[in-house]
Amino acid sequence: MTQSTPLQLIDSFNRRIDYVRLSVTDRCDFRCTYCMAEEMTFLPRSKVLSLEEIARIARVFVQLGVAKLRVTGGEPLVRRDVTTLFQELGSLRSEDGLKELAVTTNGSQLVRFAPALRAAGVTTLNVSLDTLDAARFRALTRTGTLEDVIAGIDAAREQDFPRIRINAVVLRGSNEGDIRPLLDFALNRGLDIAFIEEMPLGQVNLAGKPLEYLPSDTILSEVKQHYNLNSEATPEHSGPARYWRVDGSSSRMGLISPHSNNFCASCNRLRVTAEGQLLLCLGNEHSISLRDLLRDGASDFELSSAIVAALNDKPEQHVFDQPDQPQIMRFMNASGG
Ligand code: SAM
Ligand code: SF4
Repeated sequence: MTQSTPLQLIDSFNRRIDYVRLSVTDRCDFRCTYCMAEEMTFLPRSKVLSLEEIARIARVFVQLGVAKLRVTGGEPLVRRDVTTLFQELGSLRSEDGLKELAVTTNGSQLVRFAPALRAAGVTTLNVSLDTLDAARFRALTRTGTLEDVIAGIDAAREQDFPRIRINAVVLRGSNEGDIRPLLDFALNRGLDIAFIEEMPLGQVNLAGKPLEYLPSDTILSEVKQHYNLNSEATPEHSGPARYWRVDGSSSRMGLISPHSNNFCASCNRLRVTAEGQLLLCLGNEHSISLRDLLRDGASDFELSSAIVAALNDKPEQHVFDQPDQPQIMRFMNASGG
């Protein structure tokens, strides 16, 4: 590859990559049962990318044609000085370049951060909320307080983000009774909501019985008993969620179904972990270390070339439903969902 060859993010299955998820920390103030073990060992700080390194990687991806960046974690808003990163990323936005700057957060810090995120140019907020029952919320997150998250969501609503979506992981025998209250919560506030099938990553629950995802079809039947859904609405940006508009409201209800509706054929995304591993697929281990390249003095062209070359190893699809073992040993907080 020479400097004159135009570099493009197209993988060997002809999928164009225009969406990158950046995990800015593996740390979190919650310990959600489906995401982390109760006792976690986090990365030493020297292994985590600096905010400047993350911003540089983001810039290289935008030069390669990435139109959407999502900042995630762990909990991105617990990373010190993260606002400066959002300002850097916001400055990459342009009509024909980076169009969408998104954040996925547990909402615990949003009261403090919502104005700064909006001012920096964040367009899309996903806030995770699995239940409206305070005790169940505490049990699911192990350390979280429901009222802080609701206050955070309401603080964000005052900032006029173009789009706010609630993310709810639904587990059989745990929060399946929350589907309707959560949908009402979203509708009353004019927010979108996505219900997610739990994915078996990491050994999250060594002591207890295995977590069991609730299939999206079961959720859809339950929702249809109480609401009229208009035919599937097209998302603005292709992604794994299938959306329906809820009749008489501005809200959309989405389903993310890694088990029951494999969306790999239209996969348009890559992930960068907090330690700078470029993950080619959430459900596989293929990766390269961008951190090593950066710290060995790679130029932007060398970084871009390494990313383009790595795309040859992007797997065709994930396989989650293996008996006995989670196929992937990394926890979800390492990859950012
Ligand atoms: N801490 C932030 C949050 O919770 O929104 C961002 C990171 S979290 C890993 C990103 C998303 O992944 C959240 O919506 C969370 O609910 C979801 N998630 C975590 N573990 C999951 C699992 N095992 N299966 C499916 N979704 C999961
Ligand atoms: Fe933290 Fe998000 Fe994982 Fe919950 S899902 S433990 S809030 S990183």
